[in-house]
Amino acid sequence: MGHERCVRVGIVKAESLCVVFHSTYLLDGKPFIGEYTFTPSDQKRSFTSQSQDASFTLKDVTIGIGFHWERTEEQTFCGALELMPEEGMLRAVNVLPVETYLTSVISSEMSANASIELLKAHAVISRSWLLAMMTNTRTGKSFHEQLSANSIIRWYDSEAHRGFDVCADDHCQRYQGITRQTNPKVVEAIAATCGQVLTYEGKICDARFSKCCGGMTEVFESCWEPVRHPYLVAKPDPYCHTNDRRILSQVLNNYDQETTDFYRWTVRYTTDELSELIRRKSGIDFGRILSLVPLQRGPSDRIVTLQIVGEKRTVTVGKELEVRKWLSESHLYSSAFEVEKTSDGFTLHGKGWGHGVGLCQIGAAVMGEQDIPYQEILSFYYPGAELTRQW
Ligand SMILES: [Zn+2]
Ligand SMILES: [Zn+2]
Repeated sequence: MGHERCVRVGIVKAESLCVVFHSTYLLDGKPFIGEYTFTPSDQKRSFTSQSQDASFTLKDVTIGIGFHWERTEEQTFCGALELMPEEGMLRAVNVLPVETYLTSVISSEMSANASIELLKAHAVISRSWLLAMMTNTRTGKSFHEQLSANSIIRWYDSEAHRGFDVCADDHCQRYQGITRQTNPKVVEAIAATCGQVLTYEGKICDARFSKCCGGMTEVFESCWEPVRHPYLVAKPDPYCHTNDRRILSQVLNNYDQETTDFYRWTVRYTTDELSELIRRKSGIDFGRILSLVPLQRGPSDRIVTLQIVGEKRTVTVGKELEVRKWLSESHLYSSAFEVEKTSDGFTLHGKGWGHGVGLCQIGAAVMGEQDIPYQEILSFYYPGAELTRQW
C-alpha cells in the first residue's frame, strides 16, 4: 500500500485569471494572499500552502460552455493551484488529494437519497476510473472509424488530457470545487472505501457503467474496440426491472421523472419521419427507408451493426452508439430493440438505457436498497475483479 495520491484537475483556460487566495499560498518562497490577476507567462507557476484547509477562489469561471445555461460564476477550491501556459492562454489546474476530489464529484452527481451501499459501489468505480486516467492506461484517441463503400462503423471513447489528469467538465466528471455542499453520506461512503479500486490480474479495471442494462448486461467489444475484458461479461440482471420512482431518483439525479419506462420502451416513426431523420443524422440520402435489418447483436440484444435499406442506398451502421444517434433526435435509449414494420412506418421495441456494459445503475440501486453490501454489488457486475487497496 502506498500513500494517497494527488489528482491534477484542469479547471479553466482563459486570457487572464482573477484569483483570491483565502490564506497564504507560496510561489518560490514568495507569499500570496488576497486578490491577484494573472496573465500567461512561459512557465508553470505552482502555488502551494502548508495549511490543510487552505482554499482559493477563481472569479468568473465560465460553466456550461455552449449550453443554453452558459454563465460565469465564482468557484472555490481547496488544495494547490498551478497556472500553466496553454496555446497562448492560461490554464488553471487544481492539485488535490484523490479522496477529496471524489467527495466533491460524487456529491454533485449522486442524489442525496441514494443508499449507502450504492454510494460505496460508486465511490470504488469512480476511484478506479480516476486512477486509470492518472496512470494513462487510456489511449489518446477518442474517435475510431472503420469505413468501407457501404459500411460506417464508429465508436467513441474519452480522450486523455495533456498537462493534467482530468478536466472539470462532463467530458471527464463535472467538478465544481467546494462551492457546492458535500453530502454527508458521500463523505461516509468515501471514507468506508478509502483507497479501494477494482483490479484484474493486478491492473486497474475499466469499470464501465450505464443507466439500465434492460435485464442482461453487454460485453465491452459490442460497444468499443474489439478487445475482451474478462470482467465485463454478459449476464442476466434480475435487479433492474423496476419503475419505483424513489429508487430511480437515486440514480437519475437531474432526470425528468415523468418517464420511468426505459426497462422496456417503444418509439414510433412514420416512414416519412424516419427517412428524414436518418438523412439528417447520417448525412446520407437513402431515399425512402424500406427496412432496418439488425445484422449483428451482442448478448444483451444490443444491435452492433444495423443495415439500413433505402430506395437509393443500403448502408450498414455500427456500433451501438452510432445506431442510437442515427435513429433519434438525441440518442435512442439503447440499441437493444426489435424492429416492427407497421402500415405507415416503423415501431422500435426496446430494452434498457445506455450501453449496458459493466454496472447497471438501476440494478445496483435496487441491490443497495436491499442492503446488499457494495462488495457483492461490485462482484455481481464485475465478476472476477478484485477489490484492492491502493492506500
Ligand atoms: Zn476530460
Ligand atoms: Zn440491469
